[in-house]
Amino acid sequence: MEEVSKGNQETTIQEQLQAKREASRHYEKFRRKRRPLPDWQIGRPWLKYEGDVMFCTWCIEAHFACSFVNGSKAAKLESVKSHEVSKTHLLAVTQREELAQNNNELLTIKSDDLKSIQQDWGSVGNQVHCTASVGKRGKNK
Ligand SMILES: [Zn+2]
Repeated sequence: MEEVSKGNQETTIQEQLQAKREASRHYEKFRRKRRPLPDWQIGRPWLKYEGDVMFCTWCIEAHFACSFVNGSKAAKLESVKSHEVSKTHLLAVTQREELAQNNNELLTIKSDDLKSIQQDWGSVGNQVHCTASVGKRGKNK
């Protein structure tokens, strides 16, 4: 009875050691695994993560073909930085800027249109007012 319990204790200690070893091995494996860091996204609104895979939304929107469109598994800041200055990405940035400019021009045209529409409405309003007063005068006569 005593010997059995002693044997069990030894096994438990060995199991504990084994578990500790496995835990540290698992920790090493986990720690060494590269992961994209949230810090890298600061100042980079185009950088998106899906798990450990990095994407560039701007290059995806521009329908470019590069590693950041398909999803980069490099998980290195250097990869992010090199994509940031890559020809395709810079072209995507330029395209976005041009698009934003065009949108601004469209907005300017729209506000000009709105002014002329308001002027039209103003003159229509005057005409209505004039007609109304003429009518009133006519009624009073
Ligand atoms: Zn890009």
